[in-house]
Amino acid sequence: MNETTTGQGLAGSSAQALREIEARIAVAAKGVGRDRSAVRLIAVSKTFDAEAIHPVIDAGQRHFGENRVQEAQGKWPALKAATPDIRLHLIGPLQSNKAKDAVALFDAIHTIDREKIARAVAEEMARQGRTLELYIQVNTGEEPQKAGIMPAEVAAFVTMCRETLGLQVRGLMCIPPVDEEPAVHFAFLLKLARENGLDHLSMGMSSDFETAVELGSTDIRVGSAIFGSR
Ligand SMILES: *Cc1c(COP(=O)(O)O)cnc(C)c1O
Repeated sequence: MNETTTGQGLAGSSAQALREIEARIAVAAKGVGRDRSAVRLIAVSKTFDAEAIHPVIDAGQRHFGENRVQEAQGKWPALKAATPDIRLHLIGPLQSNKAKDAVALFDAIHTIDREKIARAVAEEMARQGRTLELYIQVNTGEEPQKAGIMPAEVAAFVTMCRETLGLQVRGLMCIPPVDEEPAVHFAFLLKLARENGLDHLSMGMSSDFETAVELGSTDIRVGSAIFGSR
């Protein structure tokens, strides 16, 4: 195998890994009669630098995810300027004092998890004249240390976002507990989304994206299987 300073996915190069992930998504979608185009692959590039990201962009990937606003500011303005149809997704926790920067740089936020953040994002979108895709993070495992709206609060929170803040909520997002069967959480998120009239689901990572696709995921967030271990 060649020595390389760029990202190394499961298959040796990140571009090759991307092709393999694409093939696996297609198989998983087909297996449950879903259209491949209904599933968006978000390549999670956190901790990897521009040099590691370039081959994945060159391979045709356009949706990328980062979990820290400040880290993303260090690499994405230049990458987005060079390839304007890139769409950047914030998949990590957002502090309200970073809402301005996040709204300016990102195209989607998957981690709306409290009223203060929803309000700050709504105000910044209005101020900057930008519309981002917004997902509400749900703590499906009701883990005390984990971010996200508790399942019993989702309906009220969605209503508050829509009616009080005038936000268009795109969907729900979850990160299942590490030691539990992800399928249970994916099925639960799908149920919560349906109950609230939402048809986008951000769920599935490197270890479980096929299961997520089978259970209706529209946005899978895959990092290490493309870029290599962090
Ligand atoms: C890092 C991260 C991912 C990607 O995880 P992998 O296991 O590397 O695919 C997905 N979602 C979130 C919220 C993350 O922080």
